[in-house]
Amino acid sequence: MIYFYRLIQKFRALTFDLDDTLYDNKPIISRTEKKLINFLNHSNKKLLNFKHKNYKFYRKQLLIKYPKIYYNINFWRKQSILLSITSFGINYKLAVIITKKAMKLVNLWRNQIYIESDIHRILELLSKKWPLIAITNGDANIYKCKISQYFSCIFRSGIDGPPKPYKKMYDLAAKKLKLPPKEILHVGDCLETDVFGAINYGMQSCWLNTHNTKLLSSINARTIPHFEISKLKYLKKFI
Ligand SMILES: [Mg+2]
Repeated sequence: MIYFYRLIQKFRALTFDLDDTLYDNKPIISRTEKKLINFLNHSNKKLLNFKHKNYKFYRKQLLIKYPKIYYNINFWRKQSILLSITSFGINYKLAVIITKKAMKLVNLWRNQIYIESDIHRILELLSKKWPLIAITNGDANIYKCKISQYFSCIFRSGIDGPPKPYKKMYDLAAKKLKLPPKEILHVGDCLETDVFGAINYGMQSCWLNTHNTKLLSSINARTIPHFEISKLKYLKKFI
């Protein structure tokens, strides 16, 4: 299903969100965090009763103290592990070693992402017609999830700039594509970071609404997209 809200101009490139646009990210993060806690429980006897809520508590504390820490999700995660395990009596030197091992595993688990075959198909079709660039606020690795062949480039929050909806990564994509923003279509699931972010920068915007959310009653809707789709396959219409 496609709903149109604004007049669409011809576009010559696409930028793509990753998390919750190309795959369902929540179960991946939840599985990763469960494995992380299990790893920590077995890494030292002082951490035997370490729980997910202990990790979450320090994660929140860090965000309160350093409100921009979420810009780099990996750094935030690393500092949360370090701080929470030292609160369980692990000395700093050992905590650094455990955190380093944990982060290596988290990186592995976090990128065990299954991309559905119809997503591969649509990305392949789109990438044959237009250059595609990935713009993510997360830490998924397009090489590890085997979708790098469709993208000419990836911009990641915390490494390439502040997260969407900030303009920086959209601007980097437009510069890389050597196109005016209005000739680029951004595709993403989030009304704030993707839809508002892209439109605020001057791009056209496609909202992927897989959960049948009502646009006008959504508290996250700061602006309307150019059009809305329920599945990525509807982008075929524009090829
Ligand atoms: Mg997303």
